[in-house]
Amino acid sequence: MIWNETMECMSREDMRKLQGIRLRNTVDRIYHNCEPYRKRMQEHGVAPDDIRSIDDIVKLPFTSKKDLRDYYPFGLLSSPLSEIVRVHASSGTTGKPIVAGYTRNDLGIWGEAGARCFTAFGLGKQDVVQVSYGYGLFTGGLGAHGAVENIGGTVIPMSSGNTEKQIMLMHDLGAVGLACTPSYALYLADALHDSHIPREEFQLKVGAFGAEPWTEAMRKELEAKLGIKAYDLYGLTEIIGPGVGHECQCQNGTHLCEDHFYPEIVHPETGQPVAPGETGELVFSTITKDGMPLLRFRTRDLTYLNYEKCACGRTSVRMGRILGRCDDMLIIRGVNVFPSQVEAVICEMPELEPHYFIVVDRVNNLDTFEVQVEVKEDFYSDEVSKLLDLRKRIVHRLQSVTGLSPDVKLVEPRSIERSQGKAKRVNDKRKFQ
Ligand code: ADP
Ligand code: ZN
Repeated sequence: MIWNETMECMSREDMRKLQGIRLRNTVDRIYHNCEPYRKRMQEHGVAPDDIRSIDDIVKLPFTSKKDLRDYYPFGLLSSPLSEIVRVHASSGTTGKPIVAGYTRNDLGIWGEAGARCFTAFGLGKQDVVQVSYGYGLFTGGLGAHGAVENIGGTVIPMSSGNTEKQIMLMHDLGAVGLACTPSYALYLADALHDSHIPREEFQLKVGAFGAEPWTEAMRKELEAKLGIKAYDLYGLTEIIGPGVGHECQCQNGTHLCEDHFYPEIVHPETGQPVAPGETGELVFSTITKDGMPLLRFRTRDLTYLNYEKCACGRTSVRMGRILGRCDDMLIIRGVNVFPSQVEAVICEMPELEPHYFIVVDRVNNLDTFEVQVEVKEDFYSDEVSKLLDLRKRIVHRLQSVTGLSPDVKLVEPRSIERSQGKAKRVNDKRKFQ
């Protein structure tokens, strides 16, 4: 099932033409309505007339998260505040959040893009969908909510938390879809198990998971634990929220709604475009938004793009799994490590629960690297030799994947803190030294 066949299956040539026209209009709008952007473009020596096709996008300056902080809260709006009907904000690690403003038109675009996502997951009018992303400033809850309403499905606006009630309503209301972070889905999987309600009494079939990086191994884990198909849902507040991209039934890459959000991949340090198919930093330009359109926004997310037509029939570009944000990359003893690499190792070992926590520190000028991981109930025994052997195997696997040999701490099942939203998997104590 495809929600918007015209846009999702357009030929590459037509798509690039359309993107060119839309970019040109967006640049025009921004130039004439947003002073900081106009100044930036003038400094950069580029005017709206220089943008004739989508290829000209490389002439435009980048926008960074810092720009959004510097012009907090409304400095980068291209519409008067009277046209803004909603704001959202991203959590931000420290200090002020990043605020995004949406016009009525923008909410329409978001709802339409979201509808494409949930349709691609195989959900429709007949389905009840439980939205367990947080509601509020975070885009997850209201974003998924609007998407499900748009496809005519029935939303249960649960938000996150209150786990027992989540399970009760999922059961009683016959939820077919569950939208939440993959880490909260794991939490709910355990709660479902603990409820002792037989799985057959639940209707659950589809997971719409995103808002944080997750691995292929985690997908298998979630699909097995919940007995569902788990699909990737991607988005970010600055661009619009969940709905920027989605997987399809093929589960082979995340289709981007590129008629609204034009993607590029650049080298994270130089900002230069990378060779086709290479991994780098994902950059988006919004080409249909009115409220806070952004040009060449540096997401900090690392991935690659694939322009081959998908077996599902869509021609829209697919991105690979997000490896992590540039900022998530840990440099330990000079070696680059992503939490997703640790996750992949842990999920592939049957003795372990998919819960882990990484602690990095610096002791006597040397980096320390600790990985805490939960052992499954059945494998958690008093026999020290068995646990030692397991620990050795984990260290060995992590060493071959990351090149580092971490201090692995086996902990009891359910002792690592669970997340109801975005999981926090790393404590880098060096940052505070
Ligand atoms: P923040 O997390 O910065 O407070 P957002 O809620 O806007 O703000 O989160 C957007 C970010 O979440 C993305 O830039 C990306 O890092 C991450 N993200 C969202 N969806 C996914 C996904 N499906 N896979 C991996 N990462 C994702
Ligand atoms: Zn597809």
